[in-house]
Amino acid sequence: MIAIGGRKYRLSFVEKIGDNGDWGKISIENRTILIKRIGNEEEQKRTFLHEVVHGFFSELGGVVEGNEELICDGLANQLYLFIKKNGAEIDWIRKGAIG
Ligand SMILES: [Zn+2]
Repeated sequence: MIAIGGRKYRLSFVEKIGDNGDWGKISIENRTILIKRIGNEEEQKRTFLHEVVHGFFSELGGVVEGNEELICDGLANQLYLFIKKNGAEIDWIRKGAIG
């Protein structure tokens, strides 16, 4: 289960999402995140983070209008690089000790 704010979401990897070629989908109502099994694992991770950012905005009360997809893409890419490049600091946040 994925925790976003006070909610927990079930993460599933699927072959297909709808009919419009989506790579990922978050359902706030159903508490699910779907990620399409595309060939590139990095793209799956970025897509996962994109859906998580949608979840963050939902927690904030849906403050983004219109360009949420672009903002989610941008923040997901920044988060991906931040997580990849800052393992010690992420461990510090998680465990309280910097390595
Ligand atoms: Zn999106």
